[in-house]
Amino acid sequence: MHKLIYHLGQYFRNPTLKKSYRFLKTTENWSLEQLEDYQFKKLKETLILAKENSTYYKSKYTNINIHDIKTLDELSKIPILTKEELIENVNEIHTNLKFHKQFLATTSGTSGQSLKFYRNEEADSFNRAAIQRGYSWHDVNPWDRNGYFWGFSFSFSSKIKNRILDKLQNRFRIFSFEEKSLKNFIKKTKNAIYVQGYSSMIYQTAVLINKLNLEKPKNIKLVKGTSEKIFDSYQEEIKKAFGLKMVSEYGATEAGIIGFECDNGNIHINMEGVYVEEINNEIFVTNLQLKSFPIIRYKLGDYISLAPRNEECTCGKKHLIIKEITGRVGENIYGKQNLYPSLYLYYIFKNISKKENINLNYQVLQEEKGKLVFLIQNQIEEDLQKKLGEEINQHFKDDIDFVIHTKAELKKSKGKLKNFISTINE
Ligand SMILES: [Zn+2]
Repeated sequence: MHKLIYHLGQYFRNPTLKKSYRFLKTTENWSLEQLEDYQFKKLKETLILAKENSTYYKSKYTNINIHDIKTLDELSKIPILTKEELIENVNEIHTNLKFHKQFLATTSGTSGQSLKFYRNEEADSFNRAAIQRGYSWHDVNPWDRNGYFWGFSFSFSSKIKNRILDKLQNRFRIFSFEEKSLKNFIKKTKNAIYVQGYSSMIYQTAVLINKLNLEKPKNIKLVKGTSEKIFDSYQEEIKKAFGLKMVSEYGATEAGIIGFECDNGNIHINMEGVYVEEINNEIFVTNLQLKSFPIIRYKLGDYISLAPRNEECTCGKKHLIIKEITGRVGENIYGKQNLYPSLYLYYIFKNISKKENINLNYQVLQEEKGKLVFLIQNQIEEDLQKKLGEEINQHFKDDIDFVIHTKAELKKSKGKLKNFISTINE
């Protein structure tokens, strides 16, 4: 029944999804060379389309001859696109092409301004198909019963809307972390095939399942985390609660689906949908399908590291691998004298994890220059606290004073968990 509803909905909303899915299930078996040939072809199309049909790109690329770009690497001749440019030029970036159907997409805007743009139906469907292909790697159908972890506190009308959408999509969602609501949610997961949503919320639920010793769901085939970094420290509790580790779906509204983790634990780039560059540990994304709102060499704002090109996954797919999504390129950390990238925090905790074999859940706050507050969710011994202090000192020397609070509650903004929160205006 749900399969039928799903197909009907898809037929009307995303008529080209089926075709895209079939295509992606074929290209799944392509060699790296085939994939890159396809990427180059689509890249060229995208560049030409943007220059011809978007006033923004027309002026940005005035002095660029697109036909000079003869390999994927030569995309570096094209200027990059920042988030600020994207937001300031929304109207001009849209192409003047006519589409039989398009959807309004909105970014969440947890870190700054939100963005609204139109996504043509083919691009929207391609994106959905890429997610569906990711599900297929875990033997999950999109119409299977699923639990949904998303932000809370909706208005009355959106609650009604969500309820209807949930029914249609065979999903149920969690509304609050009050014990009663949570227990109710966990009861429903007994029949669920997959759960998805904010990784920190899934983690919190797993902690509760384990702590209250609730009956564990037995049919789960996929635990999918999105929108937030999945910390290694989450995995143990999640495995214990759901029987599986959390798998990463990596993407962004404006960039599209960038990667999906296979059943061997590697995040494969959605090479048919996006072209990814890593420059100074940062990701730059070009969407290869989006024609209404071209996204070219977009500085997404995440630190990543790509696996070497010759690294092969035992799953057989040749799609390149993202070794690690390190985290958001955060605001700067202010010392008394110097500036530091917030990536330093990641290294501090990575070192602790390596040396002490413990993964800590952390959040760092800065309200004053030269001072940091470290919130650690775990309860940690004094000895470990001392070691953490030493690690912090090694990175910031005497330039930053800090305090460490353990067993602390981490702050969320709009349901999302940020590792570094600064209230200093630059
Ligand atoms: Zn794989």
